Amino acid sequence: PSLVSDTTLDDLPLRDDLRGHVPYGAPQLEVSVRLNTNENSHDVPPQVVEAVVAAIAEQVPHLNRYPDREADALRDALAAFLRAQPASHGVPLTRGNVWAANGSNEVLQQLLQAFGGPGRTAVGFTPSYSMHPIITETSGTAWVDGKRGDGFSLDPFDVAQQVGVVGEHGADVVFLTSPNNPTGTALPLDVVEAAYEATRGIVIVDEAYAEFARPLNAGGTPSAITLLPGRPRLVVTRTMSKAFAFAGTRVGYLAADPAVVDALRLVRLPYHLSSLTQAAATAALAHADVLLATVEDTKAQRDRLVAAMPTLGLFALPSDANFVLVGGFDDAPAAWKALLAHGVLVRDVGIPGHLRITAGTEAETDAVLAALAEVVAQAE
Ligand code: PMP
Repeated sequence: PSLVSDTTLDDLPLRDDLRGHVPYGAPQLEVSVRLNTNENSHDVPPQVVEAVVAAIAEQVPHLNRYPDREADALRDALAAFLRAQPASHGVPLTRGNVWAANGSNEVLQQLLQAFGGPGRTAVGFTPSYSMHPIITETSGTAWVDGKRGDGFSLDPFDVAQQVGVVGEHGADVVFLTSPNNPTGTALPLDVVEAAYEATRGIVIVDEAYAEFARPLNAGGTPSAITLLPGRPRLVVTRTMSKAFAFAGTRVGYLAADPAVVDALRLVRLPYHLSSLTQAAATAALAHADVLLATVEDTKAQRDRLVAAMPTLGLFALPSDANFVLVGGFDDAPAAWKALLAHGVLVRDVGIPGHLRITAGTEAETDAVLAALAEVVAQAE
């Protein structure tokens, strides 16, 4: 009998709480301008390619062995990178404070496996990263959709109230995202402190886009890493997928109290990070300055996008990330389709009248602005 069948999910003994769910699915389309998943549009620089290839070549003869389960060399390199960042204010992080996995998505999943689960509740503030509720619910954890104020803002009192009313001791897990996806705005640290005080649960600050934030001396917000000392329930997650232009490698990480790392050892699969991943990421981190050189270019393109929107009859929120949330469309899904017809793929995040556009290269900004001008003119 053929394995091609009419069987649907309804016919399978699927977990009841997964029925009716839809998978994460940002379209992966072969178009010339791909600005829909907040990747870095710049290729890995040749100097880094060479170092990564050499590091991988060294590993290949030893692929008969399992990788370092603790990923010590990689965690050392990640801790050193964080220590060197001005926005971390020199918090003396070491290997014991750092954990890495296959993308920050896997780090988040491990956090929910360890600190969520049946009978527990996570709170996040929509609109934010769409995977937070998915990772929460697939781990059997209940999700509470927190509310934001005007202009998608978050206020410390409001956040503390919404985090504190859950259960007896506040939410078991709190998701904060800074800079937030899809709005692009960084979160003042008093919101993080307020959330932490309002619960006995774990507070996660997802800083996937931290490297794109405005500098401290230009109105930027320090990283929540500065709040880690004395707060063992606070976790800051980061990724190499965005600023580092390394999304294909799948490396995300966190900074936290070493006890949090111990908790994740209870749920991680043994050898979850392949030898090739560890070698590639460790080699790349030795050239962090070269890899991060594209960040300033990307920020310039982001600022150019923000500045151009009013001339198109649209508006954009100020952004600390590598993307811009653009509002003012009469029909965002129609505009999304029209842009695609011009070879430009952006993201419809489901906010009426809005589309999210990743900041890429100068040529990509030229292309998206030209396409937007035509799409807006046609819609009138
Ligand atoms: N957090 C946020 C806020 C994101 O936008 C993304 C990617 N879009 C991630 C986490 C996950 O990234 P990765 O798994 O590639 O590290």
